This record gives sequence, structure tokens and C-alpha cells, in this order.
Amino acid sequence: MQPKDLLQLSEQFGSPLYVYDADKIKSQYNRLTKAFSKVEKLRINYAMKALSNVAILQLLEGMGSGLDTVSIQEVQLGLHAGYSPERIFYTPNGVSLEEIEEVNALGVQINIDNLSILEQFGAKHPNVPVCIRINPHVMAGGNANISVGHIDSKFGISVHQLPHLVRIVENTKMNIVGIHMHTGSDILDIEVFLYAAEILFDAARHFKNLDFLDFGSGFKVPYKKDDIETDIEELGKKLSKRFNEFCTEYGKNLTLIFEPGKFLVSEAGQFLAKVNVIKQTTSTVFAGIDSGFNHLIRPMFYGSSHHIENISNPKGKERFYSVVGYICETDTFANNRRISELKEGDILSFKNAGAYCYSMASNYNSRYRPAEVLWMNGQGHLIRAHETFEDLIKNQIGLPQIATAQ
Ligand SMILES: *Cc1c(COP(=O)(O)O)cnc(C)c1O
Repeated sequence: MQPKDLLQLSEQFGSPLYVYDADKIKSQYNRLTKAFSKVEKLRINYAMKALSNVAILQLLEGMGSGLDTVSIQEVQLGLHAGYSPERIFYTPNGVSLEEIEEVNALGVQINIDNLSILEQFGAKHPNVPVCIRINPHVMAGGNANISVGHIDSKFGISVHQLPHLVRIVENTKMNIVGIHMHTGSDILDIEVFLYAAEILFDAARHFKNLDFLDFGSGFKVPYKKDDIETDIEELGKKLSKRFNEFCTEYGKNLTLIFEPGKFLVSEAGQFLAKVNVIKQTTSTVFAGIDSGFNHLIRPMFYGSSHHIENISNPKGKERFYSVVGYICETDTFANNRRISELKEGDILSFKNAGAYCYSMASNYNSRYRPAEVLWMNGQGHLIRAHETFEDLIKNQIGLPQIATAQ
């Protein structure tokens, strides 16, 4: 997408605005499937919490993707978007037995990540095919920063509890069809990831009726120029080989599953916001925009750095700006960042705004959440309208209404 396309979209649909490039999502999906083309049965389940707009879900459904969900509401959205239940995978954390039972009744594959619920579910529903989420606790070179699945993580069943896990499965005679891990860490060191995979294989050897192994996600994408990213092609080559060897040993062609969120949609998204005010202080030039952490929280919440471009003046002379929001709290998008010269009314584009941006937006300060546009076949299509005042008051019950009801 060119700056002039984005500028035109911000004029047509107003700001602030999220824009997603369908071609980029497609090329990332194809890149992943190509890297693992040596695996006979491969399945990509898009982790929809990254970006859950129904049109995006439908776009990925059309490419052949499945869906990875973390709540029953995400399951319902996936069904609403047209996914068949067999293509939806449910990997919750800390949810009730009742919710897991409800999702199972919808025909969706469930994944259990603690021994307590596993035992209760197994005792009640011994015949239901269940996947187990393990935590491999891989530490590489004693460096906690590149460890995979910390020992104190709330996710997954520790591999150290495998004997206990196996006892529950034997006692309940439940049907374990898959083993899963999602470490959440960035897979930069492929050797570390392959080591974690060996632990997953070890766990898998305890179960005789498996259909699939799910390696989760953790693919890192570049956020800045020269940022390192996961070498998907290298990972594909090495992991495919090990996976195929394991299938031979196991005596069955298992399905290999990945569940990427960020990898598929992060770079496809851009967030457009308008410069409301340029404020020169004694030390800093602030650019105040018509947005804040209510629309894009990642810089404040995770300290993540999103590249910012002035699409109204992309070739201008660069100057230093601190880009800040309009929320009545400190909401700094960037500190002293080089951006081509800004004036009030200019439109800024924030890159990597596809994953965990709109899906984490809120109405804080009683502001409306932005609209979303899908760029497809050289055209912008509105896929979510700007909110209105009606949306803000929709579920609220004022005092006069209480009085009338009495
Ligand atoms: C969030 C999540 C993912 C996706 O992680 P990304 O870093 O966005 O690729 C995959 N699986 C599970 C279980 C998750 O919770």
C-alpha cells in the first residue's frame, strides 16, 4: 500500500482508522505453508485474539486456515464467520469446567491445560477426544530471557508432572488425541525451539492414540528496520525433518499444527491517526494525535516500538517528535522519534498494527473505537464502522430508567 492510498482511505473513512492489507495476510499464510510443505498433514490455526474482525476471519477461512480460540465467545465468533466446528481449536487458560463442556458440546476440539480440570472432565466424559497442553520449561544456556515456558508460568501442565498426568488418563480411560505447547516466547533461536519440540515428542510417546501435535506459535516479526525475525524457512526445514522422523517412529502420520497470530496479521495492519496539535516546549516537540492507548496500547503496555510515518509528507525533512495521545494520562507512542516534518492536520501511519491493536482497544475516556478497513483488490472496504454515542450508552441503565421500572 502506498502513502497516497492510505491518505485517500483516511479521507474517505475518517480518522482514526485501522487498515489491513489482504495480500500481506495471504502472503504470510502461503510463506508458512510453503516452509512446511514436506509435512504431509499440516494445519494452520489462526490465533484470532490477535485480530478478531469477522471479515479477517472469513478471509483466512477462504485460504484454508483453521482457528485457534481462547474463549467461548471467540468460538462463537468463529462459527458466526463460517468456520465449521472441526476447524476450530479451543485453548483456554483458567476457565471453568462448565465453559469447556459448553465448547465441547459445539463440536470444537478442546485443549486442557491443568490437572484438576483434566481429571474432572475425564471422569465425566471419558470418550471425548482431548488435547493436552504441556509446558516444556526449556532453559537455554541458563538465560531466562530466551527460556521457553518459564517454570513459574501459569500456562500448560509441567512436563515434570507427566507421571501424574499419565495416571489420570489411565484411571479415567480418557481419549488423548493431541499434545500441545505454546510457549509465548519469540522463536529466534531455532535450536531452542527444536529442543522444546523434542520434549513434546517425549511427552507424546506416553500416548498411543494421537492424531496431531500442536507446536503453538511464537513467530517473531520485524517491528523496526533491521529487526531480527524468525527464520521460518530454516525452522520449516529442520522441524519438518524431525517431525517426519517422529511420525515414522510413532507409526502414524500425525498432523502438525501451528497457531500463529502475530505472524499472519501484524505487518498487514496500519493505524492512521491525525495530528491535532504540535506543541513545542523548552525541551521537546510533541505531536498530539486524535488517539491514545484506548486505540493502540502496545507501546505503553508492552513497551513495543511501532514505526511511524508521516504519510501526508513522506519525503519531508526529518525532525524529532514525541508522539503522544489525547488520553488524560501519559500515553506516549514514541519518544523523540525522527519523522518527516509534521504540521497540524497531517496523517500518521503506525506500522505493525494488525496484531493485538484493535483487539485490545477500549472506550477509555469515553472515546469511540476506530473503524476498520480491509484493502483488497486495490480498494478499501469498510469492515467495521466507527462507533457512535449509541454504542457508549447501549448497555447502561440510568437512574430515571430504574425509577420507571419500580
Ligand atoms: C496468543 C496465542 C497464540 C498466538 O501467539 P502469536 O504470538 O500472536 O503468534 C497461539 N496460541 C495460543 C494458545 C495463544 O494464546
